[in-house]
Amino acid sequence: MARFPYLKETASHIKESDPSLDDFLTDPAYEEARIAGGRRVLEALENSKIEDHSLVSDAEILNELLSYPVARMIVSCVGDPFLIRRYALSEAKTGYERWKAEDDEFITSLSNELDVDHKMEDGYTKIHFSDFLKATAQLRGKIWKLINQRLDDGYVTLNRQRFLRVLQESLRKKIENELPLEVNEKILETFREPTLELLDKIQERKSKYKAEDFGKIRTTRLPPCMHRLLATLQTGEGIPHTGRFALTAFLRHLGLRPDDILRMFSTIPDFDEGKTRYQIEHISGVTSGTKYTPPECSTMKSYGICYDPDELCARIKHPLSYYRLKGKRRS
Ligand code: SF4
Repeated sequence: MARFPYLKETASHIKESDPSLDDFLTDPAYEEARIAGGRRVLEALENSKIEDHSLVSDAEILNELLSYPVARMIVSCVGDPFLIRRYALSEAKTGYERWKAEDDEFITSLSNELDVDHKMEDGYTKIHFSDFLKATAQLRGKIWKLINQRLDDGYVTLNRQRFLRVLQESLRKKIENELPLEVNEKILETFREPTLELLDKIQERKSKYKAEDFGKIRTTRLPPCMHRLLATLQTGEGIPHTGRFALTAFLRHLGLRPDDILRMFSTIPDFDEGKTRYQIEHISGVTSGTKYTPPECSTMKSYGICYDPDELCARIKHPLSYYRLKGKRRS
C-alpha cells in the first residue's frame, strides 16, 4: 500500500485506522507524514518522479502511505495547473516503473480499479478498442494509432510493456481529474509553509524559463502544424516526440536561439532541462555535427502531426515553404 498509495485498498486502510482530519492536521504523531507529503510534491516538481524511501519500520511505511493524501492536499492548496499536471504525471510514471516487477494478478486488479476492461491471454493483454482510444487519446506517436493495432473482435492486443503504458496514462488522467480537492481554511493554514515554498519554486521556474518574443520570427506566417504544436506547448500539454523534433528543427532553421526554444518547452509536464537542451543541441548540430532540417509535409502527415492544413498547404510540400510563401503574400 505504501508503494501504490492510489489503490482503493489504501484509502480503506486509512479510513479503518481512523485518524480524524483534525488529528491528521494537528497531531504531532502525524508530523513526519505531513513532512513526507511536502517532500513528495517537491520530488514531483523537481525530478518528475516519486523517489523510493526506506520502508523498513512500521513508522516509515505509515509515513510513506500517508504522504500520498497529504501531497494531494498540498497540491490542492497551491492550485497551480502546471503543478497538478506535473504531479499527476510523476505519480503515474513512478507507478509504471514499480508495476514492472509485479505479477499478473496485481496488474489485473490495478486495471480493474482504473476501469480498463481487459483480458490476459498467452502473455499478451487484450483491451477493448474503446478503452484503448480513451487511454491513448494524448499519446500521439504512430504506435498508438488504432489503425496500427491488431484488432480481433473489437479487442486490441498489447504486450506487457505497452499495456503498462496504457495503465500509466489512465492513472495520470485519474489523478489529474481528481485535483484540485476542496481545501478549507484549516488545511490551508496547516500547509501554508510548503505551499509558499512550492509557489516560490514555481514562480522561480516560470521566470527562469519565461518565453521571450520570437525574435525575427513572424507567428502570423507559421503553418497550421507548427501553430498547433506551439499552442499545445503553451497550454502545458505534452506533444509527441516527432512534434518536438519537427518544431525544434523548424524554429532553429528560422534562426531562433536554442535557449529560446528551451524556454518554450519548459511548460510541458515532463520537462527536464538537461535532456531538452541535449536534444535541441543535437538537432541543431552543436553536438551531432548534423543540422537537421524539419520534416517535409508528407512525413509530417505520416507522423500524424499535419494539423488543419489550409488552402496554402495545398500548394507546398514543406512547412518552411509555407512560411516563405506566406511572407511573400503578406508583403
Ligand atoms: S500541409 Fe505541411 S505545412 Fe500544412 S499543416 Fe500539413 S505539414 Fe504543416
